[in-house]
Amino acid sequence: MNDLLKHFREKQKQLNNEKIMNTQCPYCSMQCSMQLIEERIIERMKYKVVPNKMDPTSQGKLCIKGLNAHQHVINDKRITSPMLKIDGEFVKITWDMALEIIKEKFKSIQEEDGFDALSVYGGGSLTNEEAYMLGKFARVALKTRHIDYNGRYCMSSAATAANDAFGIDRGMTNPLSDIPMTKCIILAGTNIAECQPTIMPYFLKAKKNGAFIIAIDPRETATTKIADIHLQLKPGTDWSLVNGMLKVLVEEGYDNEDFIENRTHGYNDLQQFLRNIQLTDIVEQTGIPEQQIRLAAKMYGKANSAMVFTARGVEQHVNGNETVRNFINLCLITGKIGREGCGYGAITGQGNGQGGREHGQKADQLPGYRSIDNMEHRKHIASVWGVNEFDLPSKGVSAYEMIEKIDRKEITGLLVVGSNPAVSNPNAIFVEKSLKKLKFLVVVDMFISETAQLADLLLPSSSYLENAGTMTNLEGRITLRNGERKKPGEVKHDWEILREIATILGEGEYFKYDSSEDIFNELRVASQGGRADYAGVTYERLNKEKLFWPCPNSDHPGTERLFSDQFAHPDGRAVIKVIANTPNREAISEDYPLYLTTGRVLAHYLSGTQTRRSSTLNSRYPESRIEIHPLAAKKFGVKDKSFVKLESKRGSVVVRCKITPKIRRDTVFVPFHWGDIQNINRLTDPSFDPSCKMPSFKLCAVKISPF
Ligand code: SF4
Repeated sequence: MNDLLKHFREKQKQLNNEKIMNTQCPYCSMQCSMQLIEERIIERMKYKVVPNKMDPTSQGKLCIKGLNAHQHVINDKRITSPMLKIDGEFVKITWDMALEIIKEKFKSIQEEDGFDALSVYGGGSLTNEEAYMLGKFARVALKTRHIDYNGRYCMSSAATAANDAFGIDRGMTNPLSDIPMTKCIILAGTNIAECQPTIMPYFLKAKKNGAFIIAIDPRETATTKIADIHLQLKPGTDWSLVNGMLKVLVEEGYDNEDFIENRTHGYNDLQQFLRNIQLTDIVEQTGIPEQQIRLAAKMYGKANSAMVFTARGVEQHVNGNETVRNFINLCLITGKIGREGCGYGAITGQGNGQGGREHGQKADQLPGYRSIDNMEHRKHIASVWGVNEFDLPSKGVSAYEMIEKIDRKEITGLLVVGSNPAVSNPNAIFVEKSLKKLKFLVVVDMFISETAQLADLLLPSSSYLENAGTMTNLEGRITLRNGERKKPGEVKHDWEILREIATILGEGEYFKYDSSEDIFNELRVASQGGRADYAGVTYERLNKEKLFWPCPNSDHPGTERLFSDQFAHPDGRAVIKVIANTPNREAISEDYPLYLTTGRVLAHYLSGTQTRRSSTLNSRYPESRIEIHPLAAKKFGVKDKSFVKLESKRGSVVVRCKITPKIRRDTVFVPFHWGDIQNINRLTDPSFDPSCKMPSFKLCAVKISPF
């Protein structure tokens, strides 16, 4: 009977034309894997999502975004052919025509304004192969030094801090499986419960096993709820809070002399600095009572094992890199790094925030985390690419600086791939005004995003279900995503589009790839010997397991945990750095009396280009809203659920009001997933961290009024 039933079901599935696709979520850095079952029932398609229980990272879990990710893929607003703007309207054209237009426009810009007048803007959700190819495309096919990407706004503070402190930047020094074993956890500026929901079980297990959890955040969130102590500090004062904790740790003798002596530099300077600072000043600066600072420091100091995690809340500031350095100082002076349950992690935001920053789509970078300024590195990459090292352009400028160059008409042509800078850049009104000055804007996307609306030419790209390639998750674990769904209409993969543009520009000999695997095999060679060494990783291996980098040869098992015996600087030591008082924020004033901080909500991802086109996710959270404390709402005369106008020196938005006691009285919060009148980046401050060029997304001064 059972066999008969099975047989019947199988037959039914075949009749229903069932297709099972193995894939992984395109959104956050957990990259949870799943099966999508597509079934045709009479004339209707039905979709079922089954999480992968064997996934070593997500362990069979998916959040609401992953469960509904396919909805944007099947959205009928997808662009399925190239489109040219004629008299303000997009008109379908053929690929041949699109490529001819690109050739003509790019060549004329190069002739009139020079090679560096063309620029490329990439994204942290591109596959490793496409991020790699984009860097090569800019430097070899376009011969421009101007390439950067939206990951500049995601990971640059943490990446710079880790590179300077440890000599290498892999977001997490330990695998996620270490978290349940640790006895103290610091979660600084991260709302993992909404941004990376499937990571939460690791922290809940740790809590069950007795870990003490310290949350640092101006808002009470679903994440701070799991904390034993929530330090609800003034926005942008994290660096100071950590100085207070460091002072207590040293005074109470929690510094690890052996570790400091044998594995670090710089402790003496820090000791001297800490002697001269006062906890009372830190209380004043941060708004956190001394008793809470002492408790947090002692719980971290006395735990046998501890892990520190930072995210954009502490990183997206004009001193974001230094703030992260101070959190790393906690690990280094206590020796709580490089062993099981002890380490540091920057919780990556974008799906491929890790891999996307390793292989060359950053202005100063070549594949394998090599430097474009380093002659040896240039020589190696030039030999892999088959070009003269002296023909490789030099370092370009960061993402926001590219916009400034566009505004000054120093850059006149732009190719955007997989990004929506009109929404995701700070000071968005200026950004939109600048993008309109371009002689030629090409956007490669799945939808007519806010940036695509400004384009002269749109090129349709494939979705996560259609495009195969590797990604590197927040742990530094490389995963291979299948692309089993047929591309609709005239859609092409990003790498195919780049190859075809290179070919029409006469540089096709450098881009002879027939598959993402071909690109990956070149990336492996390019990365060999670099900090992010993928040489031993192959598609064949990735079909069987997910591998951590560095993985320098095919017999290497990959590196789960970093720094067990030495750091990555040439002398094997980590560097402790004094983080002194630095001006770090636009001050509030009578005219602009509130701090604005921004972030994500559970149902949406980045600028919302995909999640706003998913019916379930969009109906969950259809519009932006501001969170404001009841006392602040009363003071400024705004009512719950009413529309309010929020203004900074740079612009204004109109959003609905949500009154909640979960936020500080001096601070308001608005998510950043919407465009136009709800685009909160119209208000944000473009001042950036001088070392890593991270803008101050998380803090600016604003005023509020009823609308
Ligand atoms: Fe997993 Fe992140 Fe996707 Fe949620 S958004 S399913 S946590 S990858």
